[in-house]
Amino acid sequence: MDIRNTVSIPTMAGDDALVVLDQVNKFYGEHHVLRDINTVVRRGEIVALIGPSGAGKSTLCRAINRLETITSGEIMIDGVRLPEEGRDLASLRADVGMVFQSFNLFAHKTVLENVMLGPVKVRKASKADARKRALELLERVGVLNQKDKLPQQLSGGQQQRVAIARALAMEPKVMLFDEPTSALDPEMVSEVLDVMLALAESGMTMVVVTHEMGFAKQAADRIVFMADGQVVEEATPDEFFTEPKTSRARDFLHKVLAR
Ligand code: ADP
Ligand code: MG
Repeated sequence: MDIRNTVSIPTMAGDDALVVLDQVNKFYGEHHVLRDINTVVRRGEIVALIGPSGAGKSTLCRAINRLETITSGEIMIDGVRLPEEGRDLASLRADVGMVFQSFNLFAHKTVLENVMLGPVKVRKASKADARKRALELLERVGVLNQKDKLPQQLSGGQQQRVAIARALAMEPKVMLFDEPTSALDPEMVSEVLDVMLALAESGMTMVVVTHEMGFAKQAADRIVFMADGQVVEEATPDEFFTEPKTSRARDFLHKVLAR
């Protein structure tokens, strides 16, 4: 008998569990923004996290990266519990790459410097190694020819691809994307989604908060639908988009698909 089928505690989810959320709760004052979140992201899995505004999607991503503390419960990355603070936190946080809606690049550093900085400062890579790797990554996301420019000289789509390269430079175990295309002009959305699709195909483990239902259908192994701080449904894209089980999900899909 496979013990994994009989033990429901997520921390026992097995070696392929990369991100484990066990009974996670978060309050902002009186406001209960994450309610008993239990889910496991497996190695190589692509999870699309979707739901209405205010559902708690960003808070959940930020909690996984320890940009926010949680009130109770536990988050484990690759079998290691996230510590509250200290040196271990910096290295664990480096295992989790994050790409935000706003590109968050360092404005006064060149594209190349933006991608080199983390590996040199946090991973203690040599400048030569960091540079070599940064150039490879910039090529991979299609902006190598922009390497000596400042972020503001790039289009939004190019900046977001640099942000992806910068996150990848840390060699994260999992990548979190929080609405990475929401701030982009429509014609730039696909160039960023294409980079994300290629990354998904390369085997990267990804959690993607998105309103791009086409991407979710195409790329995701699993849809996690959140509303009011709770996971309301978890399903394969096929199940979720053809037969959502809850009225919350049906309402949400009706609204986003009608756009
Ligand atoms: P989503 O990303 O799904 O739109 P968020 O995680 O941003 O949702 O927000 C979840 C809830 O938490 C919302 O009601 C929001 O107003 C609240 N919230 C988010 N950040 C803070 C904060 N720093 N302080 C207080 N409340 C917050
Ligand atoms: Mg959000």
